[in-house]
Amino acid sequence: MQILDGAGVSEQILQGIRVETAGLLQQGNRAPHLAAILVGDNPASQVYVGSKVRTCESLGFSSTLLRLPADVPEEKLLEAVRGLNEDARVDGILVQLPLPKHISEAVIIHAIDPRKDVDGFHPVSQGKMLLSEPTFLPATPYGILLLLQHYGISPAGMHAVVIGRSHIVGTPMSVLLSRNAASGNATVTLTHSRTKDLKALCLQADLIVAAIGQPRFLKEDMVREGAIVIDVGINRIPDATRKSGSRLVGDVDFDSVAPKCSWITPVPKGVGPMTICGLMKNTLQAWKQAQSKPE
Ligand code: NAD
Repeated sequence: MQILDGAGVSEQILQGIRVETAGLLQQGNRAPHLAAILVGDNPASQVYVGSKVRTCESLGFSSTLLRLPADVPEEKLLEAVRGLNEDARVDGILVQLPLPKHISEAVIIHAIDPRKDVDGFHPVSQGKMLLSEPTFLPATPYGILLLLQHYGISPAGMHAVVIGRSHIVGTPMSVLLSRNAASGNATVTLTHSRTKDLKALCLQADLIVAAIGQPRFLKEDMVREGAIVIDVGINRIPDATRKSGSRLVGDVDFDSVAPKCSWITPVPKGVGPMTICGLMKNTLQAWKQAQSKPE
């Protein structure tokens, strides 16, 4: 079994972006700029946004964090998004999900200028992805492709089972793995909560991507010898041995599954850092596209 070291690979890719950004700044360009909107005080969201902002700083990017109260009206949030759309100094916009129940995530995501949609959630980005046209890929599946590429793992010809069909992870992951492009050409089975006999499907898989949101869901008896397992899940469970009283685990029961795998991602330090990497690559790309835009 070998570990797919998301933290290490992410740092290597980020270092490349850091060097490229330093070069751009030396040539007198303005820095790539990511603007994040955080609504409410969900602790996990605060951690994710904080980490994205810190990464921007470490790369020499500019960043703006706009914090809005949990009871902000949808219209006010829309105004904030429109303001960032119109701000020529902002290259990328991300609205941290989930949003409070009274706000429609779809309405907010639709309002983001697709040219600044560095999370890759806008219908224009997702449509282009489906057609294999150049676009911003959703950061988590993009990060997973970068990780596989780094280790020279080609999914071509593999049977990939994706567990979970969210718009941000499972569904785009299934599209990217199946399309006729680099890091694609797998035969993909997209599974979800209504799938019958998930275990039988997983046992046929060369590659499993677990994005369910249930701690240690994928067990050893669901994975065949030599499979590649990508664990997207981030779940906090109680742990009395930790000072914090809790720890993070993935959607994969790592201890029992890992010995059977050829490759596996850990949690933490697996897909999480690669997601940030995907986001930063998209932000740099948005900056480049903004520079080449005719006046
Ligand atoms: P989601 O809650 O939107 O969707 C979960 C999916 O799992 C649904 O499609 C559902 O049909 C499926 N599912 C639920 N129970 C199932 C079952 N018993 N069998 C098969 N499928 C089942 O999830 P999401 O937003 O894609 O997130 C999934 C997990 O990934 C969460 O733990 C989340 O925190 C994590 N996540 C991590 C990153 C990262 O950067 N590492 C990014 C995004 C999400």
